[in-house]
Order: sequence, then C-alpha cells, then structure tokens
Amino acid sequence: MNRYDLRKKVRVCAGELIAEKGYVSPVDLLVKMERLTPQQVEDWRFRRIPYLERVAIGNLSKMNTILLALREFARSAGLKPSLTAYLSWGKGPKQRLRFSKYGSPAVEEKYSTHYVANRDASGRNSRVFLTLESDSPNKQLNRADLFYGRENVRIIVVDLFIQEENMEYRTLGKTGLNVSVVGFGGIPVQRVSAVEAAAIVNRALDLGINFFDTARGYTDSEEKLGTALKARRSQAVIATKSMARTREAMAADIRKSLNTMGLEYIDLYQLHNVKNRKELDRILGPDGALAALLEAKKEGLVRHIGITGHLKDFLAESLQLEEIETVQFPFNAVETVGVPALLERAAKKGTGVIVMKPLAGGALTNSNLALRYILAHTVTTVIPGMDSLEQVEANAAVGSAPLPLTVEEKKTLDEEASTLGGEFCRRCEYCKPCSRRIDIPTIFLLDGYYTRYNLQDWARDRYQGLKSKVEACADCGECEAKCPYNLPIRRMLAEAAARLA
Ligand code: SF4
Ligand code: SF4
Repeated sequence: MNRYDLRKKVRVCAGELIAEKGYVSPVDLLVKMERLTPQQVEDWRFRRIPYLERVAIGNLSKMNTILLALREFARSAGLKPSLTAYLSWGKGPKQRLRFSKYGSPAVEEKYSTHYVANRDASGRNSRVFLTLESDSPNKQLNRADLFYGRENVRIIVVDLFIQEENMEYRTLGKTGLNVSVVGFGGIPVQRVSAVEAAAIVNRALDLGINFFDTARGYTDSEEKLGTALKARRSQAVIATKSMARTREAMAADIRKSLNTMGLEYIDLYQLHNVKNRKELDRILGPDGALAALLEAKKEGLVRHIGITGHLKDFLAESLQLEEIETVQFPFNAVETVGVPALLERAAKKGTGVIVMKPLAGGALTNSNLALRYILAHTVTTVIPGMDSLEQVEANAAVGSAPLPLTVEEKKTLDEEASTLGGEFCRRCEYCKPCSRRIDIPTIFLLDGYYTRYNLQDWARDRYQGLKSKVEACADCGECEAKCPYNLPIRRMLAEAAARLA
C-alpha cells in the first residue's frame, strides 16, 4: 500500500473508531487496520508475551506514516489529545497519540504516563505509551530508526485502555470473581443507540468498571452490551438473567443470551425476579429452571448462578440453596426494610451481594451520596444504570473513593429521601409494555420533575409531546399486576395527568 492509500486508510479507520468508541489510540487503530488481531493485543496485555513487539516490528517501516496520519486526522477532526500516549524518539518532543472526542482532561491528566515500568502487580493501571527502545541503552534513536525499522530497535506499544487505577474491587462471594464496587446496570442503555452504548461501555471499562449486568427481558440491552464487551471479554464480568421458570425455557434463554451477546460463556446467570415460594418450587422441580442452569454450568456455558428479586425476606430464605452464589436486590436510602437481615444471611452463606436501583430509579439525584451510602454496607457491588458518559465518569469516581458519608452528607441524602414517601415509581420498567402504549415510568418521571424539582412547565411540555397519554388507559390493570412495588399505577397515573395535562 502506498503512503497516500495508507494515510487514507488511517483516516477511515480512526473515524470509525471515534464513532464507535469515542476515542482512538495507536493500538486500536492497528487492530482496526488489521495489522494486529484483538487476540494478539489481549494476549500481550495480559500475559506479557511479545506478540505486539514482533508485529510492530513487522510493520515498522510504515508505522511512522500511520502515527503521523493519526495525528493529522485528530487535528482535522478537532479531537482532544490525551496526555497519556506519546510518540517519542531521540530527544525530540513527545507527541500525543491518543485522542478522544469527548475529552476528560482531569481523568487523563491523572493517568499521564511514561510509567510503564511502574504498573502495579495486578497490571490494572492503565497506561498508553508508545516509544522506541534500543537494545543498546547508549544508542541515540532517531526518526530513521523508526522509519526503516532497523533490527536493533524495538517499538513498544502499550495500550492498556485507561482504567481507574484506584477503583476498588471486592470478591463476589463464593463465585470468587473480583468485581468493581461500582458495576454497570444494563437497563438504561435500551434508551441510547448502539454506537452510544458502545462508547458508554468502553468508557466504563476504561475507568475500571468490570461488572456488567443485563437481562433477557431488557429488550436490546444484551445485544448492545455483548457487542461492546466481547472485544474486551477478559476485562469484563458479564451477568444476565431470565424470567424462565422451567428447564426447557431456561435452556432456550441461556442459548439466546449467548447468541445475542456473541459470547462463549456468561459469568453469572441469574434467576430473574423470583417472587415467592411457589415460583421457587417450580424452579427447583425436576423440570425446573435450576436444572437447566446446572447443566449449562457443567458445559461451561454459565460460570455461576444467582438469584434476583425485590422481597428481601424471601430472598434471604432462598440463600439456603447451595447452588445460589449471588443475590441481587434493590437497596437505597428509601428502600432499606429487610436489608440488614439479608446482608447478614448473605455474609453467613458466602453469597455475593449485587445492589440494584441505588438511586431509587432516578428519584434520588445525588448519585455520589447514594452510592457511597450503599457501599458503606457489606455489599459487593452496586449497579447504577448508566446511559451517558458523564454518568459513567461520575459513578466510576465514587468507586475510586467510596468513603462513608459524613453526618452532613447523610442528612442531605435523608432529606431528599424523605420527600419521596413510599409510593413512587422506581423505573424498573416491569410494567411495560402497556397495550395502550402508555409509557408509565416516563409519566411518573415527569411527574417527579413537576412535584419535586419545580420544573412544572418543562414537565408539562414533555408530557404534551408523549404519543400516548393517560386518557388512553383501558383500565385493564395489567401494569399493576406486574409492578414489584404494588403501586396503584392507575390512580397514580390519573393524579399525574391532572397535574401534567
Ligand atoms: S391499566 Fe392502563 S396503563 Fe395499565 S396496562 Fe392497562 S391500559 Fe396500560
Ligand atoms: S410503575 Fe412499578 S413496574 Fe412500572 S416502572 Fe414504576 S415501579 Fe416499575
């Protein structure tokens, strides 16, 4: 390929990466250009084998063109340079080589590198570094060495995808999995495009979030998370769940999850929203869902089994089952009843604890306080749902410094919680779909803005823009039967409509 075509290819590939991930780095680019395979990068990053050096040497004669074209592209696309990747040779100035569309200088500055040698033992610290080394420490390297790929020069490309070096990790009970204290809840990605979801997931991984939870029932969430995560499989602990209660249905759902996510195995497969003894008995029966999960585990398709639900007493009882390795339930400043006993039981049984709905479905607005409140308990990971890069960055920062709340902070959180009462929507979306296409959680969200945040005009405008309004309700009551919080949805909708209409 001549240099003109090579530069053109760099522009195309770098453009695609920016669209997909929001950032581009030399190694990403080499993979996109098919000069490295993702497997080579994974192997190199995790096992320190010299694939990358070898492959890079093979392409060295054109590496200079590629890197300069990457810088040209970044300039023309108005990308923000990262502080964390450099090209350097000789005594020349260091040149930045990693670029981001969104930019987060504070985070990137924090990870400013040339500290490859200082990576910690776990290998987690993230560094992006590109430099030249000579076999002879006294040799002064120059551009010609890079350009012609002389044998005595090794090019070292380190691209560990920025991770939050201070993210705290805890062991997920008897699974033995090491997961970030802040995980990723997979409901909200349903609301964003696949491209946005990929950028969000990659950012979460970059910042050290390694636990991702989704579900068969979250429409395209499995697909979006799977697509983004499979390229970085070894960095992620992936959990999903199914409402199937029979062996046949669960076996089919496990297959569907694997196919939809494009994975060879799932780290944690959970029994989704188990509500009572009758359901559990069905699951445990000879043709029950647990049999399918155990078979999948034997085949290596599923690594661990968990349970999720809303009723703490019942969940605590279910932990008697040795097969159950994790439990997932809602816990937040307004939903604490039954939590201490469940946490105690989980600790006794060695069960991993996954906390969902830490912001009470968005009703609590200060995520920092809400997450830190939960992490001061004996939980393993808390999984706020995220659908923007800003949320990922704010939540990941909490995982780096999960300090207990001060008295003042607890007071602030309690004050907000006290405005909610018990009758409010947690945005779990279990009531969906409504046969009349009424978007129940969105109407309750707008009502919350109207009543709690003094945004009356804004909320009314948004309500007017909804395609199906409360007046379309057929009074069938199906939504109420599905709501795990037993909310009187029809009455609440009527009250909301009286304010918003
Ligand atoms: S009661 Fe109304 S809002 Fe609820 S599912 Fe039926 S039509 Fe939809
Ligand atoms: S109304 Fe109930 S089921 Fe629907 S989103 Fe709110 S809490 Fe969930």
